[in-house]
Amino acid sequence: MRIVFLGPPGAGKGTQSKFLVQYLQIPHISTGEMLREAIRQDTVLGREARLYMDHGKLVPDSLVLHILSERLSCPDCVDGCLFDGFPRTIRQAKALDDYLRDRGLKVDLALELRVFEDELIRRLLARKRGDDSIATIRQRIHVYLQQTLPLIDYYRQQGNLRSIYAMAPTEVISQRIREAVDSAREASLAPGKG
Ligand code: ADP
Repeated sequence: MRIVFLGPPGAGKGTQSKFLVQYLQIPHISTGEMLREAIRQDTVLGREARLYMDHGKLVPDSLVLHILSERLSCPDCVDGCLFDGFPRTIRQAKALDDYLRDRGLKVDLALELRVFEDELIRRLLARKRGDDSIATIRQRIHVYLQQTLPLIDYYRQQGNLRSIYAMAPTEVISQRIREAVDSAREASLAPGKG
């Protein structure tokens, strides 16, 4: 199964991703983690990405798509994967669809985590990652609303969006995610759906 995880920064995608990759035994593909790794290794790409990340801006699509296509060509991705923090723009979503379509594949499920904005800020400030100052948090939420929120409609139109209300204890959210995944899996196994 190929799952896209959507939701604003602080919605709990990181925590729930860990649950989901274990449940489905698929690799976790987090572009944010991959970019932070490139920064740690001080690669050319990492140095460029950092200029955007430090300000809560999106890294240009071309850089993200480059790093992602390298990762997707790894053999562990053949049976599916969880995309976390990707796609973040319509252009990225279309590039992913094209990539998958060329291989006879598709996004099977887009999972949206829904959380109120004041709760997001509270969670992010409690976490304290390098790019988690109040100014960059607000900027990242702004960027999410401007550039990533349109993806909700994009996947809704494709008929594979499931929205999950994520103001609840972690285990409750995991349970809701499991139900959404199970029903999407059953639907994709149903006769005639291939
Ligand atoms: P969060 O979900 O908390 O925003 P991520 O780890 O997903 O954290 O992303 C951190 C930063 O990495 C983003 O603010 C952005 O600058 C960059 N980034 C990650 N994924 C992408 C992407 N798909 N497109 C553009 N920029 C990205």
